[in-house]
Amino acid sequence: MSEKGGRYRITVRGLVQGVGFRPFVYRLAVREGVKGRVSNGLEGVRIEAYFQEEKQRNRFLRALREEAPPPSRIWEISVVKENGGKIPPPEDFEIVPSDDTVPGITQVSPDIAVCEACLRDMKTQPHRIDYPFINCTHCGPRFTIITDLPYDRPNTTMASFRMCVRCRREYEDVNDRRFHAQPIACTECGPHYVLETWGERVTAQEEILRRVVRMLMMGGTVAIKGMGGYFLACDATCEEAVERLRSAKRRDRKPFAVMFRDVRALKEYAGVTKEEEAELLSWRRPIVVVREGEKKLAPSVSMGFPTVGAMLPYMPFHYLLFELCPLPALVFTSGNLSDEPIVIEDEEARKKLLPVSDLLVTYNRRIHNRVDDSVVFFERGRRRVVRRSRGFVPAPVPLSLPVDGIFAAGAELVNCFCLGKEKLAIMSQHIGDLKNYETYVFYREAAERMMRLFRVDPQVAACDLHPDYLSTRYARETGLLLTEVQHHHAHIAAVLAEKGLDEKVIGVSFDGTGLGDDGHIWGGEFFQCDLSGYQRLAHLEYIPMPGGDKVVQQPWRMSLAYLYSLYGEQLVELPLEVVRETERKGMLASSLEMLRKQIHTPLTSSAGRLFDAVAALTGVCRETSFHAEAPMRLESVAVRGIGGEYPWEGEDVISFLPALEAIVEDIRKGVPPEEIAARFHNTMAGMIVSTVLRLSRDTGIHKVVLAGGTFQNRILLGQVEDRLEKKGLEVLIPQEFPVNDGGIALGQLAVAAKRREMGKL
Ligand code: ZN
Ligand code: ZN
Ligand code: FE
Repeated sequence: MSEKGGRYRITVRGLVQGVGFRPFVYRLAVREGVKGRVSNGLEGVRIEAYFQEEKQRNRFLRALREEAPPPSRIWEISVVKENGGKIPPPEDFEIVPSDDTVPGITQVSPDIAVCEACLRDMKTQPHRIDYPFINCTHCGPRFTIITDLPYDRPNTTMASFRMCVRCRREYEDVNDRRFHAQPIACTECGPHYVLETWGERVTAQEEILRRVVRMLMMGGTVAIKGMGGYFLACDATCEEAVERLRSAKRRDRKPFAVMFRDVRALKEYAGVTKEEEAELLSWRRPIVVVREGEKKLAPSVSMGFPTVGAMLPYMPFHYLLFELCPLPALVFTSGNLSDEPIVIEDEEARKKLLPVSDLLVTYNRRIHNRVDDSVVFFERGRRRVVRRSRGFVPAPVPLSLPVDGIFAAGAELVNCFCLGKEKLAIMSQHIGDLKNYETYVFYREAAERMMRLFRVDPQVAACDLHPDYLSTRYARETGLLLTEVQHHHAHIAAVLAEKGLDEKVIGVSFDGTGLGDDGHIWGGEFFQCDLSGYQRLAHLEYIPMPGGDKVVQQPWRMSLAYLYSLYGEQLVELPLEVVRETERKGMLASSLEMLRKQIHTPLTSSAGRLFDAVAALTGVCRETSFHAEAPMRLESVAVRGIGGEYPWEGEDVISFLPALEAIVEDIRKGVPPEEIAARFHNTMAGMIVSTVLRLSRDTGIHKVVLAGGTFQNRILLGQVEDRLEKKGLEVLIPQEFPVNDGGIALGQLAVAAKRREMGKL
């Protein structure tokens, strides 16, 4: 036996349980002629391997990393040479059945899109011809069907389906692709689809598909049960169909996601980069927001945005549907009404979705954990997460500090919560706007389920400073030791946590709303901060919000506030459409009264509100129908590649009044809104860059965190990131979590952990 051969203990840490990692190691060992065993352990997958020589060992270790099943995520592989080289190696390689009673094995894989091999099997395996619940060790539902740990069939919503003899044989055969695939099923023993319409039930699959296709071709709406909830589908190329669906859903102008039949159709209707295509085809199959292409979908799909929220089929049923349906693309939007959570219960679907659709397609397996489709986009070739749900959740993220026993309640509007277990952060799926009653019910239920599932018994609850956030109230009600974290500090801390950093950085926290420690509403903040605390070095100047929260739906209010700061009562004489329109609506006098007397005019330094003001001034968006619509529309009209900036002033308190004055001037001169929007973006980016550079010089800090919903703006993000990097600064942006309020809980978790470590809880 050569020097580097012998007995080794290899531990693979990461997301390696429930994704077919042990069978993968087994097959690899057999291929490479390695003897030993593999088992699931507390710290991950444990391998005991006997190597004959160094080369063989290196080959094995390399393949372990490079060929690992797609959904697995390896954080660390530790290799320890064991003594006792005299013990003779075993005859072969074996999988040791897991001792599932071990407490600590708490990993649950996210749901995985159907794999290529299963799609092939769906056309060749006699017991699974066109069987829409086909899955294997590497694909299929996971989180959506798990009811308890360990991840084993009786603890899933597959429990009521008895495996047939053939499935059982495959399940137990280590050489089979379905070895220990918990949701294993076939035509004979698994779940099946049912079509329901008024007073009628169809169970023959071919007939279901035919009826669905016919309805879609006729411009109808079909409610279809998906992986993590119900969806509403219609022909994405038929304006009438999309309009009907839009009014049924009571969703005014928010773009719909679209499922393309394949990559070819996708490329006709969308311009996709290589990275975007790879992401669209990845096992996560998220919605990727891409540029629209040559051919146009029905106008009511994207509602004026030059982008498409694109996705590709990810369930076997989607593939079967497109086999029969010649349409290039279907709207595939969450099955819910307005802001309610996506429907998962069949009974609720009958009550709420059937009345607004023509057919209901369901199946007889329960969805236990609700997840929406995830949403991502790419800027400068890098992936940014907008909504973190299917395919991401509940994969934990390793942190560098212990967060055990901490529950972080999150924000209110785009809520996710977070649980700490040892040094892992387990982020919840996207929950939504807690102000909606049903969403709040979902929040409480999801929080309780996740604590039970991951065996987290929290002692500490971290929440926002805002006393009226429903998440804050929930945190209070738990009766746990409470710790409040300022919203924008949490934004920055989330990024620090993800990057494993606990050092002073310059934090740029730009968003719509967050309560500041001075009682005003923040959202355009420059901090010097670490996990333990923050110092507010600079911020956008305070501007009154006439009508308080109403400004969110009515950006025109913000434009009046800026105009009032500039021109006082004189603003009524400005030849501006926004003033005339307000007058026509009979709102001008009362708005001025509020501003004059400072009644119901809380102060804000929010960047989001500044975007609102410019969007309203330029006529791009004066009233909104969904969250952050005004800034999104302003971004979408801005011509890329136009130079020029507007003036701004101040250092610690930064004023955009000079910029607004110049914009008013431009509007008078008839400069098109597209150019004004572009220059406004340049100005915002320029101001952030020069402020960060100044603060970096003053403090000697070279790491910059960009966080908050405003950095979902691709023009702004791209410019700021590019220019700061060219100046030699290290720019940190979240990779795994949304930069918006969906990432807040992670920051709360990290700050609470730090406070505990410092004895300050
Ligand atoms: Zn598969
Ligand atoms: Zn079967
Ligand atoms: Fe925020």
